[in-house]
Amino acid sequence: ELPAVVIVGRPNVGKSTLLNRVLGRREAIVEERPGVTRDRKEVEAEWRGRPFRLVDTGGWLPSGSALDDKVSRQSEKAMREADLVLFVVDASVGITEEDGRVAELLRRADVPVMVLANKVDDSNREGAAWELMALGLGEPWPISALHGRGTGDMLDALVDQL
Ligand code: GDP
Ligand code: MG
Repeated sequence: ELPAVVIVGRPNVGKSTLLNRVLGRREAIVEERPGVTRDRKEVEAEWRGRPFRLVDTGGWLPSGSALDDKVSRQSEKAMREADLVLFVVDASVGITEEDGRVAELLRRADVPVMVLANKVDDSNREGAAWELMALGLGEPWPISALHGRGTGDMLDALVDQL
């Protein structure tokens, strides 16, 4: 079975955009509204000839509605089954309370994590990416899932960890 790379992060940080970037085609649903991708979405991807499964979780939402609880449970399940977790954070927003909660779960989990500082569309935002060191999950990778900035280097590191 192929190694599982699981994308987690709160809604609207760019998880689906990242999946599309890795696939090189528009497969996941990307919309402006937060939380549009509700279901776990699993695809086969590869980088430099190294295949892996890429799982886009519906996102981590504050508990409340039954649907949100279901989505959070799915995300936790996906995380437990992961060989590597990609924790996507929106560097243009900074660390939110929700990001903090996800980070806490990931610090306790026995799984390798790469923190992806997304929406670093240009060098002006590199500083914002480094602020994500405060999540306590290692050095963040500055990327722009939308424009492809930094994603090649990140994927090189990703497949080296599988
Ligand atoms: P998800 O809810 O985490 O799956 O987030 P989406 O992939 O649906 O993206 C949410 C919004 O952020 C969309 O409008 C995307 O176009 C935008 N977005 C995603 N990645 C980037 C990025 O690298 N830079 C910028 N500027 N916008 C991005
Ligand atoms: Mg999505």
